[in-house]
Amino acid sequence: MASAVEQLFAVKARIAAAEREAGRDAGAVTLVAVSKTFEAADIRPVIEAGQGVFGENRVQEAQAKWPALKAAFPDIELHLIGPLQSNKAKEAVALFDVIETIDREKIAAELAKEIARQGRSPKLYVQVNTGSEPQKAGIEPREAVAFVVRCREVHGLAIEGLMCIPPADENPGPHFALLEKLSKEAGVAKLSMGMSGDYETAIAFGATSVRVGSAIFGSR
Ligand SMILES: *Cc1c(COP(=O)(O)O)cnc(C)c1O
Repeated sequence: MASAVEQLFAVKARIAAAEREAGRDAGAVTLVAVSKTFEAADIRPVIEAGQGVFGENRVQEAQAKWPALKAAFPDIELHLIGPLQSNKAKEAVALFDVIETIDREKIAAELAKEIARQGRSPKLYVQVNTGSEPQKAGIEPREAVAFVVRCREVHGLAIEGLMCIPPADENPGPHFALLEKLSKEAGVAKLSMGMSGDYETAIAFGATSVRVGSAIFGSR
Protein backbone atom coordinates (compact mmCIF):
# COMPACT_ATOMS: atom_id res chain seq x y z
CA MET A 1 0.00 0.00 0.00
CA ALA A 2 1.21 3.51 -0.79
CA SER A 3 2.30 5.61 2.19
CA ALA A 4 0.38 8.68 3.29
CA VAL A 5 3.21 10.84 1.96
CA GLU A 6 3.05 9.17 -1.47
CA GLN A 7 -0.70 9.58 -1.51
CA LEU A 8 -0.34 13.23 -0.44
CA PHE A 9 1.83 13.91 -3.49
CA ALA A 10 -0.60 12.06 -5.75
CA VAL A 11 -3.53 14.14 -4.45
CA LYS A 12 -1.56 17.36 -4.87
CA ALA A 13 -0.77 16.42 -8.48
CA ARG A 14 -4.45 15.73 -9.16
CA ILE A 15 -5.43 19.06 -7.59
CA ALA A 16 -2.92 20.86 -9.83
CA ALA A 17 -4.30 19.05 -12.89
CA ALA A 18 -7.89 19.89 -11.90
CA GLU A 19 -6.94 23.55 -11.45
CA ARG A 20 -5.46 23.62 -14.97
CA GLU A 21 -8.43 21.76 -16.42
CA ALA A 22 -10.84 24.26 -14.86
CA GLY A 23 -8.82 27.27 -15.99
CA ARG A 24 -8.06 28.17 -12.39
CA ASP A 25 -4.76 29.68 -11.25
CA ALA A 26 -2.09 27.26 -10.04
CA GLY A 27 -2.34 27.12 -6.26
CA ALA A 28 -5.89 28.53 -6.23
CA VAL A 29 -7.09 25.54 -4.22
CA THR A 30 -5.91 24.79 -0.68
CA LEU A 31 -5.63 21.14 0.32
CA VAL A 32 -7.02 20.52 3.81
CA ALA A 33 -5.66 17.09 4.84
CA VAL A 34 -8.31 15.49 7.04
CA SER A 35 -6.50 13.59 9.79
CA LYS A 36 -9.46 12.52 11.96
CA THR A 37 -9.00 9.10 13.61
CA PHE A 38 -5.28 9.10 12.73
CA GLU A 39 -2.58 9.50 15.36
CA ALA A 40 0.14 12.09 15.65
CA ALA A 41 2.64 9.44 14.48
CA ASP A 42 0.66 9.08 11.22
CA ILE A 43 0.30 12.85 10.77
CA ARG A 44 3.90 13.88 11.45
CA PRO A 45 5.44 12.49 8.22
CA VAL A 46 2.76 14.29 6.21
CA ILE A 47 3.67 17.59 7.92
CA GLU A 48 7.36 16.90 7.32
CA ALA A 49 6.55 16.35 3.62
CA GLY A 50 5.34 19.95 3.51
CA GLN A 51 1.60 19.72 4.19
CA GLY A 52 0.60 22.66 6.38
CA VAL A 53 -3.21 22.62 6.52
CA PHE A 54 -5.20 19.95 8.38
CA GLY A 55 -8.83 19.27 9.26
CA GLU A 56 -10.38 17.53 12.25
CA ASN A 57 -14.05 16.90 12.89
CA ARG A 58 -14.11 16.56 16.70
CA VAL A 59 -12.91 19.18 19.12
CA GLN A 60 -12.00 16.67 21.82
CA GLU A 61 -9.99 14.43 19.49
CA ALA A 62 -8.14 17.44 18.10
CA GLN A 63 -7.34 18.66 21.62
CA ALA A 64 -5.67 15.34 22.36
CA LYS A 65 -3.21 15.43 19.47
CA TRP A 66 -2.83 18.91 17.98
CA PRO A 67 -1.44 21.13 20.77
CA ALA A 68 1.83 19.15 20.73
CA LEU A 69 1.99 19.05 16.92
CA LYS A 70 1.28 22.79 16.70
CA ALA A 71 4.02 23.47 19.25
CA ALA A 72 6.45 21.48 17.08
CA PHE A 73 5.20 22.99 13.80
CA PRO A 74 3.92 26.50 14.61
CA ASP A 75 2.83 27.35 11.06
CA ILE A 76 0.19 24.62 10.89
CA GLU A 77 -3.32 25.84 10.05
CA LEU A 78 -5.97 23.66 11.70
CA HIS A 79 -9.58 23.59 10.45
CA LEU A 80 -12.61 22.43 12.43
CA ILE A 81 -14.81 20.64 9.87
CA GLY A 82 -17.21 18.79 12.18
CA PRO A 83 -20.30 19.96 14.06
CA LEU A 84 -19.62 22.41 16.89
CA GLN A 85 -21.55 22.24 20.18
CA SER A 86 -21.91 25.58 21.91
CA ASN A 87 -20.32 24.18 25.08
CA LYS A 88 -17.13 23.54 23.02
CA ALA A 89 -16.86 27.06 21.56
CA LYS A 90 -14.17 28.04 24.06
CA GLU A 91 -11.94 25.07 23.18
CA ALA A 92 -12.60 25.52 19.45
CA VAL A 93 -11.57 29.18 19.46
CA ALA A 94 -8.44 28.36 21.45
CA LEU A 95 -7.24 25.56 19.13
CA PHE A 96 -8.53 26.04 15.58
CA ASP A 97 -7.39 28.56 12.97
CA VAL A 98 -10.46 28.11 10.77
CA ILE A 99 -13.92 27.08 12.03
CA GLU A 100 -15.94 25.88 9.04
CA THR A 101 -19.14 24.71 10.70
CA ILE A 102 -21.12 27.67 12.03
CA ASP A 103 -24.76 26.82 11.36
CA ARG A 104 -26.96 28.40 14.02
CA GLU A 105 -27.49 31.53 16.03
CA LYS A 106 -26.42 30.03 19.35
CA ILE A 107 -23.04 28.92 17.98
CA ALA A 108 -22.49 32.33 16.38
CA ALA A 109 -23.22 34.04 19.71
CA GLU A 110 -20.91 31.71 21.68
CA LEU A 111 -18.09 32.11 19.17
CA ALA A 112 -18.42 35.90 19.25
CA LYS A 113 -18.19 35.83 23.05
CA GLU A 114 -15.09 33.59 23.03
CA ILE A 115 -13.34 35.55 20.28
CA ALA A 116 -13.78 38.73 22.32
CA ARG A 117 -12.70 37.01 25.55
CA GLN A 118 -9.64 35.22 24.16
CA GLY A 119 -8.51 37.87 21.69
CA ARG A 120 -7.99 35.06 19.19
CA SER A 121 -9.74 35.29 15.81
CA PRO A 122 -10.07 32.08 13.81
CA LYS A 123 -11.36 32.50 10.28
CA LEU A 124 -15.04 31.61 10.09
CA TYR A 125 -17.21 29.77 7.54
CA VAL A 126 -20.91 28.93 7.58
CA GLN A 127 -21.91 25.32 6.86
CA VAL A 128 -24.85 24.92 4.47
CA ASN A 129 -26.95 21.74 4.38
CA THR A 130 -27.29 21.87 0.59
CA GLY A 131 -29.28 18.61 0.46
CA SER A 132 -31.59 19.62 3.35
CA GLU A 133 -30.82 16.28 4.99
CA PRO A 134 -32.52 16.05 8.40
CA GLN A 135 -29.61 14.24 10.08
CA LYS A 136 -26.94 16.58 8.71
CA ALA A 137 -25.55 19.76 10.26
CA GLY A 138 -25.68 23.05 8.36
CA ILE A 139 -28.10 25.88 7.78
CA GLU A 140 -30.87 25.42 5.20
CA PRO A 141 -29.88 26.87 1.81
CA ARG A 142 -32.82 29.29 1.75
CA GLU A 143 -31.74 30.72 5.13
CA ALA A 144 -28.01 30.82 4.42
CA VAL A 145 -27.58 34.34 3.07
CA ALA A 146 -29.70 35.94 5.83
CA PHE A 147 -27.75 33.91 8.40
CA VAL A 148 -24.40 35.16 7.09
CA VAL A 149 -25.75 38.72 7.31
CA ARG A 150 -26.93 38.14 10.91
CA CYS A 151 -23.54 36.66 11.84
CA ARG A 152 -21.94 39.87 10.60
CA GLU A 153 -24.44 42.46 11.79
CA VAL A 154 -25.75 40.95 15.03
CA HIS A 155 -22.67 39.05 16.21
CA GLY A 156 -19.87 41.01 14.54
CA LEU A 157 -18.38 37.84 13.00
CA ALA A 158 -16.33 38.23 9.81
CA ILE A 159 -17.67 35.26 7.84
CA GLU A 160 -15.21 34.48 5.02
CA GLY A 161 -16.62 31.34 3.45
CA LEU A 162 -19.23 28.64 3.04
CA MET A 163 -18.82 24.89 3.48
CA CYS A 164 -20.98 21.94 2.43
CA ILE A 165 -21.07 18.13 2.48
CA PRO A 166 -23.34 16.93 -0.35
CA PRO A 167 -25.60 13.91 0.26
CA ALA A 168 -23.50 10.74 -0.10
CA ASP A 169 -25.80 9.18 -2.69
CA GLU A 170 -26.25 12.16 -5.03
CA ASN A 171 -24.31 13.72 -7.85
CA PRO A 172 -22.34 16.41 -5.98
CA GLY A 173 -22.18 18.90 -8.88
CA PRO A 174 -25.54 20.62 -8.25
CA HIS A 175 -24.67 20.97 -4.54
CA PHE A 176 -21.33 22.58 -5.35
CA ALA A 177 -23.07 24.90 -7.83
CA LEU A 178 -25.64 25.88 -5.19
CA LEU A 179 -22.92 26.65 -2.63
CA GLU A 180 -21.06 28.75 -5.19
CA LYS A 181 -24.23 30.72 -5.99
CA LEU A 182 -24.95 31.30 -2.28
CA SER A 183 -21.39 32.52 -1.73
CA LYS A 184 -21.87 35.20 -4.38
CA GLU A 185 -25.17 36.29 -2.83
CA ALA A 186 -23.65 36.37 0.65
CA GLY A 187 -20.49 38.14 -0.51
CA VAL A 188 -18.01 35.58 0.79
CA ALA A 189 -14.90 34.47 -1.10
CA LYS A 190 -14.05 31.03 0.30
CA LEU A 191 -15.71 27.79 -0.71
CA SER A 192 -14.87 24.61 1.24
CA MET A 193 -16.23 21.71 -0.79
CA GLY A 194 -15.04 18.39 -2.15
CA MET A 195 -13.71 15.30 -0.35
CA SER A 196 -11.72 12.22 -1.44
CA GLY A 197 -14.40 11.05 -3.88
CA ASP A 198 -15.27 14.33 -5.55
CA TYR A 199 -12.58 16.98 -5.00
CA GLU A 200 -11.80 17.35 -8.70
CA THR A 201 -15.48 18.04 -9.41
CA ALA A 202 -15.52 20.59 -6.57
CA ILE A 203 -12.50 22.35 -8.09
CA ALA A 204 -14.36 22.63 -11.41
CA PHE A 205 -17.23 24.31 -9.51
CA GLY A 206 -14.97 26.85 -7.80
CA ALA A 207 -13.80 25.25 -4.54
CA THR A 208 -11.07 27.32 -2.85
CA SER A 209 -10.33 24.46 -0.46
CA VAL A 210 -10.93 20.71 -0.57
CA ARG A 211 -11.08 18.44 2.49
CA VAL A 212 -9.34 15.16 1.68
CA GLY A 213 -8.92 12.39 4.24
CA SER A 214 -8.96 8.77 3.10
CA ALA A 215 -7.25 9.46 -0.25
CA ILE A 216 -4.22 10.57 1.79
CA PHE A 217 -4.27 8.66 5.07
CA GLY A 218 -6.10 5.52 3.91
CA SER A 219 -9.46 4.15 4.99
CA ARG A 220 -10.71 4.77 8.50
C1 LIG B 1 -14.10 13.05 7.15
C2 LIG B 1 -14.45 14.30 6.47
C3 LIG B 1 -13.86 14.64 5.23
C4 LIG B 1 -12.87 13.77 4.50
O1 LIG B 1 -13.52 12.67 3.97
P1 LIG B 1 -12.76 11.64 2.97
O2 LIG B 1 -13.87 11.06 2.19
O3 LIG B 1 -12.04 10.69 3.84
O4 LIG B 1 -11.86 12.46 2.15
C5 LIG B 1 -14.21 15.86 4.66
N1 LIG B 1 -15.10 16.69 5.24
C6 LIG B 1 -15.68 16.39 6.43
C7 LIG B 1 -16.64 17.36 7.02
C8 LIG B 1 -15.38 15.20 7.07
O5 LIG B 1 -15.97 14.91 8.25
